[in-house]
Amino acid sequence: MMRSMPATDLKPAFYGETLASLTEHLAERGEKPFRAKQILDWVYKKRVDDPAAMTNLSASLREWLAATFDFTPLRPILTKSASDVTDKILSRLQDGSLIETVIIRAPQEGVGQDRSRKTICISTQVGCAYGCRFCASGLAGWKRDLTTGEIVAQLMAVCRQEDAHTPRAREELASFDNIVVMGMGEPLANYDSLLAALGILNAEWGLGFGARRITISTSGLAPQIMRLAEEPMGFRLAISLHGATDEVRTQIMPVNRKYPLAELLPAARAFAEKHGRMLTLEFILINDVNDSLEQARALVDIARNLHAHVNLIPYNTVQGLDWKRPNVKRQEAFARVLRDARVSVTLRREKGHDINAACGQLRLQHEEDGAVAPVPANRR
Ligand code: SAH
Ligand code: SF4
Repeated sequence: MMRSMPATDLKPAFYGETLASLTEHLAERGEKPFRAKQILDWVYKKRVDDPAAMTNLSASLREWLAATFDFTPLRPILTKSASDVTDKILSRLQDGSLIETVIIRAPQEGVGQDRSRKTICISTQVGCAYGCRFCASGLAGWKRDLTTGEIVAQLMAVCRQEDAHTPRAREELASFDNIVVMGMGEPLANYDSLLAALGILNAEWGLGFGARRITISTSGLAPQIMRLAEEPMGFRLAISLHGATDEVRTQIMPVNRKYPLAELLPAARAFAEKHGRMLTLEFILINDVNDSLEQARALVDIARNLHAHVNLIPYNTVQGLDWKRPNVKRQEAFARVLRDARVSVTLRREKGHDINAACGQLRLQHEEDGAVAPVPANRR
């Protein structure tokens, strides 16, 4: 598949550059190699996005930077908060496309509000080609892949937004505990751009964010899971299972026709064995679709075989779709089958934690309604 790029007359996002590529650009201009590190320090350590403010660089270098790269390829246009636990940020890209990024704050017991665990959920594509029947991101189809620079820019935009109302966060690099690649799009269908972006987030000259604190969620692209298993950076993996038999999974996830369980599960196993780390199986509970006790029992077999943790997520209603979550009794009965079989399982309860459903919905709503009243970023 050809990689889709934004219109060519636009400047490339700065955030797609690496220490090596920037050093090369600078060498072409006759600049010293150490300038690359200085520029990256401004961007990733000091979080400055205006070359004019990079005061240890010459005026001509600052001008060249501003003329060559876009330092704001993504502009947050709307922030929506749910019960002070999640912030969904809708952003506009250079070509007008809309994407979502989500911050989830989970308070830590016995620790002040400031030290709540923060997770950021990033998107990798505009829309999604995989068309899972229950998902808002898949509804309007796939528009394009995000570039490496756009993926990194999401993180930086959110960091800056956080800095604006928690000035002390500036001292704590990135100030996020975890990154989950669970936003809009299928991450492993934009493999190269995603891996390059995660490399920049991970790099010592970049955000210095540990690979073990990054989780990639996939609808189950078996060959790419095998490829990911070979990567030197040890990311965590979550698999959106949502059906414990081919019959049920195919009904709601067309991708299961291409990679049925007989192909997906061995790939997941290979990944887990290679990394020696537990993977997560995500299972949305949808009323009368995949929430029977037979499904729970089939899920027990899969989870045991993979030594996987199961994350049960009561379905979040999507505007325009008829699916519903089962009632709490049914959710608990399902979870009990797993627990009784000693499978490690969590059942999401708190509304604000329903981050998985978050991405894609705000964009959908925004595009359908035309506009949603913006909430100022400093609302808290
Ligand atoms: N494409 C990847 C990552 C993005 S979706 C994937 O499918 O894994 C992130 C998670 O949100 C997936 O597990 C997805 O199935 C789940 N999800 C999508 N719509 C949802 C909804 N309405 N309610 C709950 N979870 C949903
Ligand atoms: Fe795409 Fe994931 Fe939504 Fe399926 S669940 S349509 S793969 S974003």
